Amino acid sequence: MGKLAITERITGHTELIALIAYPIRHSMSPTMHNEAFKKLGLDYVYVCFEVDTTTLEDTVRGLRAMKVRGWNVSMPNKGPITQYLDHLTPVSQIVGACNTVVNDDGILTGTSTDGIGAMRALNAHGVTYTGKKMTVIGAGGAASSIQVQAALDGVRELTIFNRKDAFYDQAEDLADKLRERTDCKVRLYDLADCDCLRHELDSSDIYIDATPCGMHPLENVVSIPDPSYLHPGLVVMDTVYAPRQTKLLKWAEQSGCVWFNGLDMMLYQGAAAFQLWTGKDMPVDYIRDLLF
Ligand code: NAD
Repeated sequence: MGKLAITERITGHTELIALIAYPIRHSMSPTMHNEAFKKLGLDYVYVCFEVDTTTLEDTVRGLRAMKVRGWNVSMPNKGPITQYLDHLTPVSQIVGACNTVVNDDGILTGTSTDGIGAMRALNAHGVTYTGKKMTVIGAGGAASSIQVQAALDGVRELTIFNRKDAFYDQAEDLADKLRERTDCKVRLYDLADCDCLRHELDSSDIYIDATPCGMHPLENVVSIPDPSYLHPGLVVMDTVYAPRQTKLLKWAEQSGCVWFNGLDMMLYQGAAAFQLWTGKDMPVDYIRDLLF
């Protein structure tokens, strides 16, 4: 957008939507949301702010005081921000983190739209997940949000694999909560258990990889040992979208899987937040063509 267009568009009535994270200058979210506001003629502007946990509380107090309609939250603030909000949606309560805040007349509600984004991405690729078996590798922010949404949305069996790092204990807690609160059959295993990994992937309909494997600087790293763990027809979604085809997705293509990257997840998590702030549907096909 040229300078003239910005000064024409931003007036005394324009509402702010923010993204608070650190680092954040690389984000595609401002382009996605600002182009969608422009397309629909909505009087909002979306701006990034470099905020980490040392300035988070003051930032939330300021955004509330300024009656800012809403904001996105990314690392390192996704978990810590929950303590400064008034309400959390069921997904955010279970995950213990949120990526979206809505300000309704000073009442702040946090939610997590990453899982919704992943489920809509599956839908957009013609994949049905209700009643199916899903394996998710990863137990961090993106993985937990996907796991909770999948269990709430009717996935029959969910198998989680993670390496035994700091995220593993969180995954145990999350698995317990999902067993208590949903009908989904949830299992958690160490990623190093290759026999179990092979068995679970063999019997899965969908495999979502929610680790940074495949993304810089892990371009040559894949969470699974080799392509023989994949079977034809398995749906493989990688949450990574840069590069567009990770090493895992190359293996998936060679193995006859249905495969796609995290671009649609990114788009649909943004669309879900956009809807909460504005009450309008993001023109996702237009934005996909524009951005990707
Ligand atoms: P995170 O740091 O919260 O979690 C990282 C997870 O990956 C943990 O479970 C960790 O144990 C695991 N992990 C890390 N290195 C690993 C390795 N070498 N081998 C196996 N497991 C490993 O990160 P996050 O925010 O959940 O992000 C995870 C991925 O999802 C990133 O690649 C991120 O870009 C992507 N993501 C995509 C979207 C989207 O909209 N497409 C949204 C959020 C995150």
